[in-house]
Amino acid sequence: MEEAPLQKLEDELLQEQGVELWVKREDLLHPHISGNKWRKLKYNLQEAKEQGHHTLLTFGGAYSNHIAATAAAGKEYGFNTIGIIRGEEHLPLNPTLSFATSCGMELHYISREKYKLKAEPDFLEELKQTYGNVHLLPEGGTNLLAVKGCTEIVQDIPIKYDSICSAMGTGGTLAGIVAGLAGEKQVLGFPALKGGEFLKQDVEELVQEYSGHTYTNWQLITDYHFGGYAKVKPELLAFMEEFGKKHHIPLEPIYTGKMMYGLFYLIREGFFTRGSRIVAVHTGGLQGNAGFRERLGLQV
Ligand SMILES: *Cc1c(COP(=O)(O)O)cnc(C)c1O
Repeated sequence: MEEAPLQKLEDELLQEQGVELWVKREDLLHPHISGNKWRKLKYNLQEAKEQGHHTLLTFGGAYSNHIAATAAAGKEYGFNTIGIIRGEEHLPLNPTLSFATSCGMELHYISREKYKLKAEPDFLEELKQTYGNVHLLPEGGTNLLAVKGCTEIVQDIPIKYDSICSAMGTGGTLAGIVAGLAGEKQVLGFPALKGGEFLKQDVEELVQEYSGHTYTNWQLITDYHFGGYAKVKPELLAFMEEFGKKHHIPLEPIYTGKMMYGLFYLIREGFFTRGSRIVAVHTGGLQGNAGFRERLGLQV
């Protein structure tokens, strides 16, 4: 596994506001098992091996970072992989799914209706009947072993800092960060979905189940979803492009672009006291940009 180095940003806005911003480049952890998805898979792969499973089965949308990461992890660590994909097959395959199949993942499509059952015990039993003795991983990879893996995001940060930020989908990554810090620092989570307030309870439950503790040093910043999950706006794309040029750090529009946009907004508004040191976790997900380039002519 590669390192996830810290990169300090040089920016006029940061100087004006008297804050430091460091990006934790989890996107560099692995070329294909990107960022937080690698953290989330790590202990799940160990468990699958210990249980003698040869096949991983998981779920995702057609552009899912978790599908791409699971396919790559299966190839690297010697598991067969099956991806249950939401919606109909579209040929030619988009870049995410064509990457997944190139890693050997077998794809099966199910209707959006049926996909909603993805966590129901009866449906999971049915999948086991169909596909045999598979190791099931939930959508987005979030479970307690994923939380354990994500606690390691904060284990090797070699500077002193005050606040740490992460994008959120299911909240598994944030739960790991919160549990790993055990009440230290200020933790900010930026949901990529509209109405992300519900994640408060999900994170609380994951942290409690994993660590047996409840912490209060974290909060959600729910204003920067740009209309909802996978929705983008021109000002977001423009921000990402400028950010990429200035700092030489690629972002993607679903998670990290929205978090960084929101974080810059908070900094501009004086949310952080002068002298603060902020760490922003780059959770990866850059494989998704190939699909965005195809659909939107994205320039990053
Ligand atoms: C999946 C993903 C997230 C969300 O992680 P959760 O643990 O589901 O909250 C954030 N950023 C990127 C780049 C992702 O791929």
